[in-house]
Amino acid sequence: MAPSENLHPSTQALHADDFLNLVADVAPPIHLSTTFRFPKEPENLIPSEDPVDDFDGTNYVYSREFAPNATRFEAVLSSLLKGYAVSYSTGLAALHAALVLLNPKRVSVGEGYHGSHEVIAVVSRLSGLEKLPLDCPDDSLGEGDVIILETPVNPLGTAFSIKAYAEKAHARGAFLIVDSTFAPPSLQDPFLWGADFVMHSGSKYFGGHSDLLCGVLVTKRKDWQKKLFEDRLALGNVMGNMESWLGLRSLRTLDIRVQRASESSGKLVAWLHKAQTAPSPEANSEEQLVQMVLKHIHHASLQNEPWLREQMPNGFGPVFSIVLQSEDFARVLPSKLGLFQHATSLGGAESLIEWRALSDSRVDRKLLRLSVGLENWEDLKNDLMRGFKSLVEGR
Ligand SMILES: *Cc1c(COP(=O)(O)O)cnc(C)c1O
Repeated sequence: MAPSENLHPSTQALHADDFLNLVADVAPPIHLSTTFRFPKEPENLIPSEDPVDDFDGTNYVYSREFAPNATRFEAVLSSLLKGYAVSYSTGLAALHAALVLLNPKRVSVGEGYHGSHEVIAVVSRLSGLEKLPLDCPDDSLGEGDVIILETPVNPLGTAFSIKAYAEKAHARGAFLIVDSTFAPPSLQDPFLWGADFVMHSGSKYFGGHSDLLCGVLVTKRKDWQKKLFEDRLALGNVMGNMESWLGLRSLRTLDIRVQRASESSGKLVAWLHKAQTAPSPEANSEEQLVQMVLKHIHHASLQNEPWLREQMPNGFGPVFSIVLQSEDFARVLPSKLGLFQHATSLGGAESLIEWRALSDSRVDRKLLRLSVGLENWEDLKNDLMRGFKSLVEGR
């Protein structure tokens, strides 16, 4: 599926699906049909025993199985993520698919995204799957069990060592699924460090414009991809035709969007951190203002771990969290901002801020999650400073 392995990822994003282009159009057409004509010649009507193996990128039948927009989307993803990609209706559908495929007895998982725990709860109801914490003792895991590692982790944006968890899993015959939603390709390649599956909520950076839901699972094993396609056909959790077309057009600019947003986020975090830790700030200075409002910043760029610069050599991701001095500040700040919009989710072109208590009852009620988009970083900084100022002035 990946004819362009020697090309740079930004080039692959534009050409890895060229071999699936059925028309002369430069921009991919939108295929909306759910059903496709069988061959005209009666001698070519051969019932397939293995529709997944027999699929060649042209012989579409019914779009719950394969569909042209999604197939091109997956071809680009396979190339960028360096494995065999399968797309799903949502990120959580992708996680569910991985658990259905592996059917582990135990799953070790950190706090992370709250929805992933809902998927585990549903699977537990069906199979008796047992949930263990991420730091469970090595010998509590056995053959075929699973570790789900989210890194960088929601909502903090701090990172874990993929290599360490891959070693922990593999020493016990278990598998490692990395939810790499917060660090798309160009920031992190979990396969380099031993992941068995890479999972993404494509609703975030792959979609990139806050206008589609999508999930992606990638493996290095073709037999797993085949089984995932078969399960997806049975369970029906496919992407819509319109969404996969939007996804394909978004992937064309993935590299440049992620690089810019991550760079801006790094600058913003560094600036805030410097102000927050400045010794004895002058009266009415920005440093003093930051210190009156901000208690703590969480982001991988502030972690001092030897493995981290290897795991994330090109930046630490566009999402970070801030803990304010009071719950009231955290509830009010979003209403004082003009550029950051108060909404959940992340990964779009528009910067977002979220009082996270609204979506996740487990987190510190003083915590706000920021998803840096594509606005100029200094404009975003000034927006935050204006917001901080009106908080302390009680306006
Ligand atoms: C959003 C998100 C999910 C769930 O993705 P959906 O596309 O909303 O189903 C899973 N993991 C992480 C880290 C996320 O941010």
